[in-house]
Amino acid sequence: MKEVTLKFLGTGTSHAIPMIGCKCETCTSADPKDTRTNSSLLIQKEGENIIIDCGKDFRNQAINADIDNLSAVLLTHNHSDHVSGIDDLRVFNRLQNKPVPIFGKADHLETLKNYTFHYLFSDETQKGGGIADLQMNSIKNNVEIEGIDFEVLDVIHGKIEIFGYKFLNCAYISDVSCIPEKTLAKIRDLDILIIDALRFREHSTHFNIRQALNIVEAVKPKKTYFTHICHDIMHSKVDPLFKDKKSEYFTEHDVSLAYDGLEIKVMKH
Ligand SMILES: [Zn+2]
Ligand SMILES: [Zn+2]
Ligand SMILES: [Zn+2]
Repeated sequence: MKEVTLKFLGTGTSHAIPMIGCKCETCTSADPKDTRTNSSLLIQKEGENIIIDCGKDFRNQAINADIDNLSAVLLTHNHSDHVSGIDDLRVFNRLQNKPVPIFGKADHLETLKNYTFHYLFSDETQKGGGIADLQMNSIKNNVEIEGIDFEVLDVIHGKIEIFGYKFLNCAYISDVSCIPEKTLAKIRDLDILIIDALRFREHSTHFNIRQALNIVEAVKPKKTYFTHICHDIMHSKVDPLFKDKKSEYFTEHDVSLAYDGLEIKVMKH
């Protein structure tokens, strides 16, 4: 059995927290658990690093987590809070003298390569002047990286179809407003479910806390972490509600808010 560490590099929504110009109690909180950068997960196995998503905060996340090598990047979708850090992946070409493989949905990768980050792939960009060695690999079902099988989970995020990932009996679904039946069947009885729970109020492209709890009741993971959280949620006020029998958000299941820097150990058989 090998130990694998999951580390939350970021657990915030696109604006991240503190949000520019906001003086709410979460954005001005002294609790480090209320500082949330763009959602991203680091999967560490024997010194090898795999990340899910690479957003606007990637550079600082990588420095804080001391990431000096990268085996692969898995992308959920191409919104800025999940892909803007791709520009900073060039550094890893130099650090490890090999390409950085990026895995994701075919049409998302096409857009990133041909539009968003065209200069990283263009022959007209000079070597040493910005061209990167990034391998774009479109996937539909599974990919094995560093001996870990990653299975694509098709989910709906507003009007678009995007990916979550299942690996080591854990699932990571950071941006979701609807989980199709076919995907629900794949996430029953997990050891760990990491799932979008933006806020209490409803939202057109994200689960709110009630909807995320409904998924927990349906698929019964041993442990659940909520992520992609906005500033409506103050950690110290909301995290205890899931265990408070007097709260409407009480659940018999083991549910916690994730926070930046949280580490979980999982076993690879
Ligand atoms: Zn997002
Ligand atoms: Zn705020
Ligand atoms: Zn998104």
